[in-house]
Amino acid sequence: MSDLTDFTLAEARDAVAGKKISAKELTQGFVTAMEGARALNIFVTETPDIALKMAEASDARIAAGTARPLEGLPLGIKDLYCTKGVRTTAGSKILENYVPQYESTVSQNLWDNGAVMLGKLNLDEFAMGSSNETSAYGPCISPWRAKDSKTALVPGGSSGGSSAAVAARLCLGATATDTGGSIRTPAAVTGTVGIKPTYGRCSRWGIVAFASSLDQAGPIAKTVRDTAILLKAMASIDDKDSTSVDLPVPDYEAGIEGGVKGLRIGIPKEYRVEGTDPEIAAVWEKGAEWLKAQGAEIVEVSLPHTKYALPTYYIVAPAECSSNLARYDGVRFGHRAADPKDLIDLYERSRAEGFGAEVRRRILIGTYVLSAGYYDAYYLRAQKLRTLIKRDFEEAYKKCDMLLTPATPSPAFAIGEKIADPVTMYLYDVFTVTVNLAGLPALVVPAGLNTAGLPLGLQLIGKAFDEATLFRAGRALEIAADLKAKPQNWWSQ
Ligand code: GLN
Repeated sequence: MSDLTDFTLAEARDAVAGKKISAKELTQGFVTAMEGARALNIFVTETPDIALKMAEASDARIAAGTARPLEGLPLGIKDLYCTKGVRTTAGSKILENYVPQYESTVSQNLWDNGAVMLGKLNLDEFAMGSSNETSAYGPCISPWRAKDSKTALVPGGSSGGSSAAVAARLCLGATATDTGGSIRTPAAVTGTVGIKPTYGRCSRWGIVAFASSLDQAGPIAKTVRDTAILLKAMASIDDKDSTSVDLPVPDYEAGIEGGVKGLRIGIPKEYRVEGTDPEIAAVWEKGAEWLKAQGAEIVEVSLPHTKYALPTYYIVAPAECSSNLARYDGVRFGHRAADPKDLIDLYERSRAEGFGAEVRRRILIGTYVLSAGYYDAYYLRAQKLRTLIKRDFEEAYKKCDMLLTPATPSPAFAIGEKIADPVTMYLYDVFTVTVNLAGLPALVVPAGLNTAGLPLGLQLIGKAFDEATLFRAGRALEIAADLKAKPQNWWSQ
């Protein structure tokens, strides 16, 4: 039998439910893999004891015939989700010793479905970044390497721990969050599948806030099916999040083999962005051909305000971040500076010592664009543009059912390559931020490898709350791409 960690989540589910393997055996396999992969710096906190206890409880349920949908399946949790009694850092020094008294709704939903927690995954500090390099706990390293190269590559960000853990087969699936691309970028550059659900599909309660009108929880996993299974378990209405939506959660998995016959797939011409890697442009075309060959209709559409998306996002997101992060004052929780001479000194030093450079930059920009003299010039205009960007999609959806676009302008880059220049890093989000501004769902699926052997992803953008159709089309792409490559294990030697 192949290594247990090679199972997809669906395969592991069936093996555990069919009593071919025990939850404990499966979990032990992942604990060993996790402990052997420390060179990748994927976990901020490992919780093997909790994992094995949960697995034992799962085995007892299976024996008693009371198994739940994810019984005994080991997952990683992005360290932005509060986990009761388990340190939650948000990738920041300011929360270095923070142990939540409560569990996030989404992770609670997973445990209520029987899943097992392996530990807390690395991320960019407060989810601000595209490469996982802003983490106070050091960068997370992708398990992928270019052919004949030992250069350490980024796993994408901010959910770099989530994508790297899935790609390195350290868990069956992982939670992630997406404010401007943080599920989709990491999925795209690690050959994994990730979905950013419609705003409101999953509860934000208990997830450390970055930009509340953009943040959304979602899964990263190995396959479209696994991602569909996880989203079903994660999504729910929640009294504790007034923006969560009271709509039934469909059985996404049941519909994924439905095919794309008759679907109209829009190709937005503004996404032909200068500077996009030609191999990505080629895979985009190929993706459209694959869908067409399976019976979809390809239509050209226009999203005329796309060029304003990045500047709009980089005003709205910092504005909300500056407000959300005001709570870290050294008083109620989080890092507290030693021996303050007065209250202002306490605030200033606690925040200066606790926040990293990127977070400080965002707070400064956010405070600036919200200040009395500049509010109209920046924040208000950005809000207006946001409405226009959303309207673009509404117009486009008169002509098509979903959109097909690249996910990132280039494959994974080297650690250190872009981090010194924030603007270059921000430009990497060019294909992802529009979706958050419009509140829409989007799925990223691996579509091929470049000539250096690195994964390339494609993005499908759907109508609000139409995740089911995205999974269907994503599955069609997955079948056509038929990608078997996975990173070779060099890290545990
Ligand atoms: N890269 C984007 C940013 O740094 C998106 C991050 C995210 O989605 N959390 O803001």
